[in-house]
Amino acid sequence: MTTNNTTLPDIEQLTRLANQLFTALPCDGSLLNAGVHAASPQATTAAAESGKLTQLASLAERHIEPPVETAELNKLLANYGTVSRSSAPSNTLTTAPSFYFLDAAQQQQALSTVELTVKSASQTLSPQSAATADLDKVTGLSSLAGQHVELPAETLELHKLLASHATVNRSGIPSNPVAETAANPTFYFLDAQQHPHRDLNTLGLVSSHAAFDVHAVRRDFPILRERVNGQPLAWLDNAATTQKPQVVIDRISEFYSHENSNIHRAAHELAARATDAYEKARKTVANFLHASSPEEIVFVRGSTEAINLVAKSWGQQNIGKDDEIVITWLEHHANIVPWKQLCDVTGAVLRVAPVDDNGQVLLDEYTRLLNPRTKLVSFTQVSNALGTITPAQEMIELAHRVGAKVLLDAAQSVSHLSVDVQALNCDWLVFSGHKIFGPTGIGVLYGKAEILEATQPWQGGGNMIEDVTFERIIYQPAPARFEAGTGNIADAVGLGTALEYLQRIGVPNVARYEHELLGYAIEALRGINGLRLIGTAAEKTSVLSFVLKGHSTEDVGAALNKAGIAVRSGHHCAQPILRRFGLESTVRPSLAFYNTYEEIDRLVSVVRQVQAGQIGFY
Ligand code: PLP
Repeated sequence: MTTNNTTLPDIEQLTRLANQLFTALPCDGSLLNAGVHAASPQATTAAAESGKLTQLASLAERHIEPPVETAELNKLLANYGTVSRSSAPSNTLTTAPSFYFLDAAQQQQALSTVELTVKSASQTLSPQSAATADLDKVTGLSSLAGQHVELPAETLELHKLLASHATVNRSGIPSNPVAETAANPTFYFLDAQQHPHRDLNTLGLVSSHAAFDVHAVRRDFPILRERVNGQPLAWLDNAATTQKPQVVIDRISEFYSHENSNIHRAAHELAARATDAYEKARKTVANFLHASSPEEIVFVRGSTEAINLVAKSWGQQNIGKDDEIVITWLEHHANIVPWKQLCDVTGAVLRVAPVDDNGQVLLDEYTRLLNPRTKLVSFTQVSNALGTITPAQEMIELAHRVGAKVLLDAAQSVSHLSVDVQALNCDWLVFSGHKIFGPTGIGVLYGKAEILEATQPWQGGGNMIEDVTFERIIYQPAPARFEAGTGNIADAVGLGTALEYLQRIGVPNVARYEHELLGYAIEALRGINGLRLIGTAAEKTSVLSFVLKGHSTEDVGAALNKAGIAVRSGHHCAQPILRRFGLESTVRPSLAFYNTYEEIDRLVSVVRQVQAGQIGFY
C-alpha cells in the first residue's frame, strides 16, 4: 500500500498509468523516435486498453526527444514507484524509507511539478472539471507529458485519453478501465463464433446465448494474474472465498483516501460523505436482493454473524421449550451450531431433513417434519459441500403453511443465482460479502420489515439507541438497532461496489456461463478412473466435490497446489453431510464466472496424473 502526499499527484494512479504506458512501449524505447507511430508488438497483441495506451504513447512520443528527455521522464516516473514487469509490484515506498524525505532540490522539483499540473489543467480544462479530484490525478501524468505538449488541442486529446483510462470521481464510484468495461456489459460477450472452448459444441453444452468472454472478465481481477509455484494461478476455491475486481479494491482505497469518517452523528463534511456512501451501499444491497426497502438490510460481519443475530435475538425471544427448529443435512456449521445452542438454552428440539444419495433434500421427509410446533426453518439455498440447489421457494411455502418463519442461507447462492427475497418470501436471508467478490468482514442480514421492527436487538451500544438514561433505553428503528457500535463502513461500501459490478455483468449471464462450465467439468471428472463425485443433484451449481480412490484428499489438494491450482480439501465446515456419504473429507474445486475451460482441463490433467501415480504430492 502506498501513501499519498496530498500535495503530489496520486502515486498509485500515476504509477499504474506510467507502467501501463511503458509496458505498451518496446523495451528499447524505439517508439519514442519522433514520427514513429507503429505500435509495439506487446501493444498490438494486447487488449483494447493497450491500444489506447499505444495511442497515448504515440501522442507523447511526438513531443519527447530521445534520449535525454525520455530518460528524465522515466526517472521522474520511477520516483513515483515502479511495478516490475516480471514480478509482484515493487516500488520505492517499500524499498527505500528515504523516499519519504525530500532534499531541497527535490522539494523544488515537486513544487514545480504541481505548478505545471495546475497551469496545464487550467489552460486546457473547464473550471468545473478542474475542480474535481480526478483532475489532480489525471494531470499528475499529463503534467509530465505536458512539459512536452505544445498545442492545447493535443493536450486535450491527451487528457481525454488519460481520463478514459483512469479517473477517480470523488462523488461516486471510481471510474477506470475496469469500471468502464463493467459499465458496458457488451464488452463481456462474444459473438456466436467466438465461444471460449472449442469442444463444447461437440459435447452439446453450448447454449444459444452469446458466449461470455471470460478473458474480458478476468482482466478485472488483478490477482488472477498471479503465479503460484511457477504456474498461473487457477483459483478454484470460490466456495471458500472469491477474488476481488479492481473496482472494489479501488473503491475501498477511494473511501479511505477521500471519505473516511465515522458515520451518522458528526457535523462535518467527511461524516456526510461516509454516511452517504454507507447508506448508498445499503440501497444497492436492497436493490440486489429485490428487498422492498433499504431498512430491511442490516450490515453484519458475514453469514455466520447474521444467523447468530437471528438466533440470539428473534430466536431467544420467540422460541421456547418443545418448539421445533428444522434444518437440513446440507447445512454449513454456521447454520447448525447457533440453532443447536438455541435448543440447548431453550429446550427446543432440532429436526433435520434428510437428503437422497444425490444430495437432494427429500421433500416428503421435509414436509413430514413440519407441524404446528415448528417455529423456525433454516436452510441453505446452495450446499457449500455438494453444490445442491435446494427448492427454496417450495420449502419456504411449505414452512409458512404451518406458521413457521424461514431463514434462507444464501452464502453460496447469491454469486451464482438471481435472488429475489420478495418472490422467495423468506423471512430472513443472509450472505457474506467475501463470497460475492466483495471484502471480508462484511455481510448482510435481510429481514422483513415487520419482523425486524418486532425484534429486540441482540447487542447494545452506540449507534443503535435513540435515547439513553440510567432508567430506560429507547432503541432506534431497524436496521440501526441491529448495528451496535462502529461497523465495517469501508467494506460495506466495497460490497456495494461488488454488487454493482456483478449487476452490470448480469447474474443470469453468470449463471448461464457457470452452468456450461460446471457441465463440462463434471463430464471431464467423471471420465477419471477411481474418481467419485459427491453431490450429483440434478440442480446444482459451482461445487465439484470428489474423492479419488487410493489417494487422500490432502494429497490430491497438495498435488493441485503444486500445479498452481487452488482447491479446498477437508470437511468444508459441513461434517454432517460428508458423513452422510461416509466421508470425513473431499477435494472441492468450486467455480466462479472468471474460471475458464482451460483451468478445468488443467485440473483434470493433474488429477489424472495423481491417479496414474505420475506425480508426487509435496
Ligand atoms: N453458510 C454457508 C452455506 C457457507 O458456505 C458459509 C461459508 O462457507 C457460511 C454460511 C458462513 O459464511 P461466513 O464464514 O462468511 O460467515
